[in-house]
Amino acid sequence: MNKKMKSYKSFTALVIVWTMLGAGHVSAQNDSIHVKAYAAMDDKGVQVPYEYNRRPVGDHDVLADILYCGICHSDVHEAFNDWDYTVYPNVSGHEMVGRVAQVGKDVTRFKVGDYIGIGAVQASCMKCPQCKADNEQYCTHEGGTGFGDVTSTCGFSDKMVVDEHFGITIPKDAPVEKLGPVMCAGITVYSPLKAANIKSGDKVAVAGFGGPGHLAVRYSLAFGAEVTVFDRTEEKRALASELGAAGYVNVNNPEEMEGLQGKFDYILTTIPTRYDPVQYMNMLKLGGELIIVGLPATSEAPDININAIPFGTRISKSLMGGIAETQEAMDFSIKHGIYPMVEVIPVQRMNEAFQNVKEGKVHFRYVVDMQTLNQ
Ligand code: NDP
Ligand code: ZN
Repeated sequence: MNKKMKSYKSFTALVIVWTMLGAGHVSAQNDSIHVKAYAAMDDKGVQVPYEYNRRPVGDHDVLADILYCGICHSDVHEAFNDWDYTVYPNVSGHEMVGRVAQVGKDVTRFKVGDYIGIGAVQASCMKCPQCKADNEQYCTHEGGTGFGDVTSTCGFSDKMVVDEHFGITIPKDAPVEKLGPVMCAGITVYSPLKAANIKSGDKVAVAGFGGPGHLAVRYSLAFGAEVTVFDRTEEKRALASELGAAGYVNVNNPEEMEGLQGKFDYILTTIPTRYDPVQYMNMLKLGGELIIVGLPATSEAPDININAIPFGTRISKSLMGGIAETQEAMDFSIKHGIYPMVEVIPVQRMNEAFQNVKEGKVHFRYVVDMQTLNQ
């Protein structure tokens, strides 16, 4: 998420040139791609219609018509400049499913008409040790991990140009309106849970039962864990049980937070607000691990008193996942029928949806139907 920001390039207006080269395979073009989108223009975060140009379709690029894009809490953080780096106009959105409309001449993994998933990792240097180890999300080189040719992820648009390496394949019969969130909410929790090498019967807690949180519950159960959910509303208790969680702790009831010392092998926290990580670390067994994926606003970032951390516990922090592992998460989700619970909305309801995400009134993911941009 700590992206190097570039200024928007100005491009000439679009003329999409459908060449004679068969099923959409085209040589590199000079024409930039004109895109309709919704953008925040300042830190008030209000989403308004906005048009801009993306880079032309290169030999290794895919042009996709974006069908659906999930709303992640990170989009809300970004729109409101919660992390102090947003460049405006800000077109966020990084949980995309699109349909391939055109491919560059060297593209091998996609053809016109295929579905494609696109997440936040849309470019990387491909040469550094992180990229070579399939951890493109940790590429730190100049021109490395980033958003391709613009300053943000741009999922709330009608079109996308991306190097095919960063595309996730999706089978034709998949429920595509539900799959966008796998590209962020899903992989963000799948990756550290997979790395944890969970054994049958391990006790896993998931703190923050939102987009990534509810998928973390499903993946942990699929890996054989017994799962406890921590969140702050009573209404999510039944939902947690419906998904198969063995326990639910309402963190606003102090008595429910008692008696949990040394109980868990792993606690994965997606909490996007201020909280006390050490309180959770005290609930870990010896050798247990607190896995942090939630990224609160800078002004709400928790402080950690290292002297209070229990000896013999571990703490880690994880960012999304590499492209190969995102593909693995997609394949795993489809194989096991692990889909996010989504509400599909038209783009005209984005402001209401952003506000609801801010206020925690979403069960569990809004997905924007990007085709409504053209209505
Ligand atoms: P959501 O708002 O969907 O989910 C967060 C959940 O946490 C909500 O259920 C919320 O409850 C709950 N919550 C909030 N405060 C507390 C608290 N103090 N204690 C317990 N539960 C709490 O957000 P997302 O799931 O989309 O994102 C979560 C965080 O993860 C964000 O900060 C986001 O930026 C970050 N993120 C990080 C990624 C990474 O790669 N590391 C990738 C994707 C997201 P309520 O509904 O009541 O508000
Ligand atoms: Zn996200």
